[in-house]
Amino acid sequence: MCKKISITGLLPEEISSQLDIKPSFRGVQIFEWLSKGIDSFDEMTNLSQALRQQLSEKAQLRCCKVSKILEDSDGTVKLQITLDDSLAVETVLLKDRENRKTACVSCQVGCAMNCAFCQTGKLGIARSLRPEEIVEQFFLLEKHSGPLDNIVFMGMGEPMMNLENVRKAIAILTDKRGRNLSERRITLSTSGVIKGIYDLADNGPLIRLAVSLTTADEKLRENLMPIAKTNPLAELRNAIDYYAKKTGRRVTLEAALLGNTNTSEQSAKNMINFARGIDVNVNLIPWNPVEGLPFKEPSNNECRRFVEWLEKAGLNVTLRTRRGREIGGACGQLGKTLYKKNSDSKKLS
Ligand code: SAH
Ligand code: SF4
Repeated sequence: MCKKISITGLLPEEISSQLDIKPSFRGVQIFEWLSKGIDSFDEMTNLSQALRQQLSEKAQLRCCKVSKILEDSDGTVKLQITLDDSLAVETVLLKDRENRKTACVSCQVGCAMNCAFCQTGKLGIARSLRPEEIVEQFFLLEKHSGPLDNIVFMGMGEPMMNLENVRKAIAILTDKRGRNLSERRITLSTSGVIKGIYDLADNGPLIRLAVSLTTADEKLRENLMPIAKTNPLAELRNAIDYYAKKTGRRVTLEAALLGNTNTSEQSAKNMINFARGIDVNVNLIPWNPVEGLPFKEPSNNECRRFVEWLEKAGLNVTLRTRRGREIGGACGQLGKTLYKKNSDSKKLS
């Protein structure tokens, strides 16, 4: 734990009150500087020397540091980030064809949900991240790659299991006095925590929601995603419908396509039935290989056929291109290079 106050996890009013800074507009000035990703309090040139000294005595500017940078030939960048208790997470920069840049951030060290096809799930969970650890991932990535357009909570961990800290990080990143990122440019991806979906719909923030459906075959989903046993499909569908209606935002259904597992015509029909009558689009992700897991990549043909079945039924479908795989930075691959030494014991906890 940082011994000093972690300033990147605070809103302007909290900076003023927790660090006893007067007058209060100074809190806003400090917050503005932090959102520019500065590396030292001395860069806060509109503050007096005495105030900068006071800050460096009481506050910690960063509790995360970049321990490794990996770059894929397709433009994907992965930062390995060490936390102050020596645990680590990964943060990924994704570039699309229009050169828009998206930060894919982690919200937990590992993940407790244990989805059968996911590298992060294999690790188990060590702990959830604090708001400052989420915010700093974004700032560190901007420092490396320049201004970013979007942020997706699709890195390590299940954001609904750390919702309060994710909320606080979003409040900081969207605050008009600082980084001023639009809520429309933020997406939270959940494995289907129904309670969290209602909470987000009712209490905000008004961000985009993605739900990792994977398959709409109840038994198969239970086998692939243990969370499905307590969050059944019919109730999940109601929650998605509620979110879309309450927020006016279309929800994305995600499905990692596993070769010969969830790509049959029947699987497509089940997904079509699930999606009928709710405001969703579908994002398909060809499975990225994870060592030691008993799945295989779907063939191009398999993916194409699946897309066609859904499109024929009138669904809006995107098939994600495989990106970041050279550096283990693709969906579901995060964590492997971090905890390789642990991989015999498999679990973080
Ligand atoms: N925990 C959240 C967000 C992180 S996972 C969630 O599960 O939604 C982000 C996405 O990657 C999810 O849709 C998940 O189903 C998918 N995924 C996990 N492992 C994968 C893999 N090996 N290949 C492709 N997608 C994978
Ligand atoms: Fe956790 Fe998401 Fe991986 Fe499932 S897919 S284990 S919820 S990170």
